[in-house]
Amino acid sequence: MAHRILILERIFVAPGNGGTASEAKTSNVNLPDGDFHAAVRFALAEKITLVLPGPEQPLVDGVEVHFRKVGIPVFGPTALAARMEGSKVFAKGFMDRHSIPTAAFRSFSSSQFDQAVEYVKTCGFKVVLKASGLAGGKGVLIPETTEEAIRGLRDIMVDSVFGAAGSEVVIEELLSGPEISVLAFSDGYTIVPLPAAQDHKRIGEGDTGLNTGGMGAYAPAPIATPEIMGRIMKETLQPTITGMRREGFPFVGLLFTGFMLTADGPKVLEYNVRFGDPETEALMLLLADDTDLASILFACVDRRLDAVQINVRPGSAVSVILASQGYPGSYPKGHEIVVGELPSNVVAFHAGTKALDNDIVTSGGRVLAVTAYGPTLQDALDAAYAGVGMVSFEGKTFRKDIGRRALQRPVQ
Ligand code: ATP
Repeated sequence: MAHRILILERIFVAPGNGGTASEAKTSNVNLPDGDFHAAVRFALAEKITLVLPGPEQPLVDGVEVHFRKVGIPVFGPTALAARMEGSKVFAKGFMDRHSIPTAAFRSFSSSQFDQAVEYVKTCGFKVVLKASGLAGGKGVLIPETTEEAIRGLRDIMVDSVFGAAGSEVVIEELLSGPEISVLAFSDGYTIVPLPAAQDHKRIGEGDTGLNTGGMGAYAPAPIATPEIMGRIMKETLQPTITGMRREGFPFVGLLFTGFMLTADGPKVLEYNVRFGDPETEALMLLLADDTDLASILFACVDRRLDAVQINVRPGSAVSVILASQGYPGSYPKGHEIVVGELPSNVVAFHAGTKALDNDIVTSGGRVLAVTAYGPTLQDALDAAYAGVGMVSFEGKTFRKDIGRRALQRPVQ
């Protein structure tokens, strides 16, 4: 089948950052946050041919239908499909209906506090408590004891510490094992995973300290053997895409599934319905030269992903997050960033940065994702950390042990 030749003319980013302000093909645009009508007006005026919502909230709030109504395709799920991330109760129920491997669980509404306490006392396993709604990655509690679990339930269900996100709660079995993230493209029928990635959630080396949005990632994760990836495809990814379509809410976009590799096999911890950091940055450098991201996105919205070849290079990619001092707590902003001349296999993706006069300055907790490709994981790590050394801003904070876990494993 002939491929449509795509020439990417221009990308508008709302609100964008210092990186998208400086790239040749990207322009930042200021649109009122959450105002989908303003976004649609802008898209029509600029004759936009594809929209890619970044974060989960607008997807859960149904941004997709606003563009669909005026004939502009969206790479991203409908509000119904976005429930897979927006409601953990919904996602767990879906997995149950489709026999997708996940932790044993029960769901409760906030009026069922007594029943939830009873379940925690009698379920016979250590539990994890999850506020069902979006809580910015903070809605999960892992209590040490039954007493602590009951206190946690009271916090979520009675004292509403996670607000409306905790109006329903999932209580699930504590699993153990290494975690991997699998990002996969789908057009609603076909699903194509990228190599598995591993994130580093804690701020401190050796996985210590507070949880963050992620401090670094590498891919492929050697622990995700071809056998494990085969099981993930057969037991989770394909049944998820087929099940969503059969239930009437096909998934078009990027499905990001978090797995725990347990002794019983890979089990789903969560679904995200969008790209996520810092795994995405590493994976982008693994796309082969003949594989064009824009063509994949268009193929998904055109429901013809099966006609597109997604080639991944051999080798590894590593992403190291440079954060502001104090993150994930409070941190200063406005420090000037200087990035040296990076080699062609290293990219400094911007996150919390902004253009100010002729400078780029820090404007967020996670500032840059210095990402490198190499023929081996060690090469990629060396290149990424050499790149880290070429970036300077006051308070630059990063983990020095990204990827160490994988190096300790024999290469598959
Ligand atoms: P995020 O958006 O930050 O990934 P989230 O709020 O959507 O997080 P989950 O991904 O469901 O929540 O859980 C966050 C983390 O809690 C997981 O990465 C994992 O380390 C741990 N966790 C979640 N569920 C379990 C479980 N059943 N057993 C053991 N650990 C778990």
